[in-house]
Amino acid sequence: MIYLDYNATTPLDRRAAAAMQPFLGAFCGNPSSIHRAGREARAALDNARDKIAALLRAKPNEIIFTSGGTESDNLAIVGLARAHATRGKHLITATTEHHAVLHAFEHLQKRDGFRVTWLAVDHFGRIDLAELTGAIGDDTTLVSIMSANNETGTLQPVGDIARVCHERGVLFHCDMVQSFGKIPVDVRRDGPDAISISAHKFYGPPGAGTLWLRSGISIEKIHYGGSHENERRPGTENVAAIVGMAEAAALAVADAAAEQTREAELKEALRAGLQSIFPGAIFNGHPSERLANTLSATFPGADAETLLINLDLAGICASSGAACMVGSVLPSHVLLAMGVAPELAKCTIRFSLGKQTTPNEITSTIDSMSKIFARLEPALAE
Ligand code: PLP
Repeated sequence: MIYLDYNATTPLDRRAAAAMQPFLGAFCGNPSSIHRAGREARAALDNARDKIAALLRAKPNEIIFTSGGTESDNLAIVGLARAHATRGKHLITATTEHHAVLHAFEHLQKRDGFRVTWLAVDHFGRIDLAELTGAIGDDTTLVSIMSANNETGTLQPVGDIARVCHERGVLFHCDMVQSFGKIPVDVRRDGPDAISISAHKFYGPPGAGTLWLRSGISIEKIHYGGSHENERRPGTENVAAIVGMAEAAALAVADAAAEQTREAELKEALRAGLQSIFPGAIFNGHPSERLANTLSATFPGADAETLLINLDLAGICASSGAACMVGSVLPSHVLLAMGVAPELAKCTIRFSLGKQTTPNEITSTIDSMSKIFARLEPALAE
């Protein structure tokens, strides 16, 4: 099998799996228990918290463990908006965010009476800083913009967004689910007030995530129960997954620079190969401000679902940006927001490369795509 869907999820690093092993056994205690088993679990949790904090150059008490990227995004957006609602009820985000962000804002708009500005993006998927600046009013409390888009890999100007927000006294949450472990982050330098990350995107286990929240900023809980995570996220901690997340995070950060260079070369080989077998192919996203591993390719006239099924039959896993809704395939909201026509959006597939991707796999993928296009040729010519 050739796996080119690392933006969906990554395989668990075996060193992270080994770190988790002791906490999957029969005697992993509850970190809130005062006996020895509990104390051992608590020590592992504290250790994981210190490790993740150090990687972000943050303080350990700024780390809130969650169940993943979706929960981190929900907690940041709903929790910060509600905690600061006495200052104002206007929020800002972009149309190309992940649904974990978009749906949280929609909820606040529909149920809690917040006003939301949905920033447009240009053809590359980037927001306009002047538009952001103009949208901020006296009642704006929170801006949420992602660092890297999951479908196209386009990067947003995070440092500039942070500067604009802070000049106006507005909180800035950044969904770094796709960029963490690929692009360095230093919370003291980069400027967001809150950051979401998710373990299964950087070779950790699914079901573990982190919300980093700058100390001194209040947040309302969105779950109710015990006093875990400093009264910010109740529920017994998933010790094994959190230990695995911390180990995977350290490993990803350690070889990020070399790995990004390697993946950029492989992605460029894939892009050039696809362009040569399908000269009309269009590649989406920003040409330089982008993740090294992500290639969003439109093949006009070739239906994405058909391509993906044919790739799957050839043993290749890729994905489309489209979401399946009650039997019909809707074109990706990200591509539509970038001005891609719906009929082209439906002809778009995403390849996302990762640590296990080899040059041979890229050659085989180009070869398979060439055979698929040859088979589909009569339909393409219609
Ligand atoms: N944000 C982005 C940009 C993502 O790509 C994803 C997952 O695809 C999420 C949030 C949600 O993360 P999780 O799958 O950990 O809930």
